Amino acid sequence: RSGRAAALRARMEERLLGARFRYLNQQLYTGSSRDAARLFRDDPAAFHLYHRGFERQVQRWPERPVQRIVRYLRRRPASLVVADFGCGDCTLAASVKNQVHCFDLVPLSPRVTVCDMAKVPLAAEAVDVAVFCLALMGTNLQEILAEANRVLKLGGTLLVAEVASRFEDTRAFLRAMTQLGFKTVSKDLSSSYFYVLEFTKTGPARPGPAPGLRLRPCLYKRR
Ligand code: SAH
Repeated sequence: RSGRAAALRARMEERLLGARFRYLNQQLYTGSSRDAARLFRDDPAAFHLYHRGFERQVQRWPERPVQRIVRYLRRRPASLVVADFGCGDCTLAASVKNQVHCFDLVPLSPRVTVCDMAKVPLAAEAVDVAVFCLALMGTNLQEILAEANRVLKLGGTLLVAEVASRFEDTRAFLRAMTQLGFKTVSKDLSSSYFYVLEFTKTGPARPGPAPGLRLRPCLYKRR
């Protein structure tokens, strides 16, 4: 019957989407941010597919991490200028009164400025808050976080929400962050899904290796 054939077809499409999402996701976590930029520039369809898969993943979680960032910003003055690195569909910008600079590789929303987050078109010390919500993806984390440091004002806030299982050694990670000019202000490690870390910029990033910065790739299981 055609109903059953359609259901089978839908299930096969679902499987294929899942497999392509996991493959793209793995590429984003195991290559540099430049590789990611090239990947999506050459194949914008891959980006949309990635985002459909991403949406599906986060819908399974009890809370969307970006909602935590929204709550944080609503408690603070709306005059603070924000940079959202890897903004996705710009949920953050749409949910707060603040001016939010939205950066991503492909525009899911007209608010997005398309760029590699390792090099954003902002002047030095232009923002009060820098956000990475599930967006610390490339292998060049140090370069990406140094860029956040560059655009942040001294005393400005860096917020990181990241999948809990990516942290191999949280203390080593936080220690490495001090080398990048960020002091830990608060850390919420209570969720088994994701951590929320808050830092202030204490000065410029110091060059040199910061091995503790490593995060595991976030590889989703087949379901
Ligand atoms: N912050 C959003 C989206 C998270 S998904 C949210 O919480 O809903 C991670 C996002 O980072 C994706 O939209 C992906 O395209 C983006 N991204 C990955 N590498 C990037 C890079 N090098 N430069 C800019 N954006 C990047």
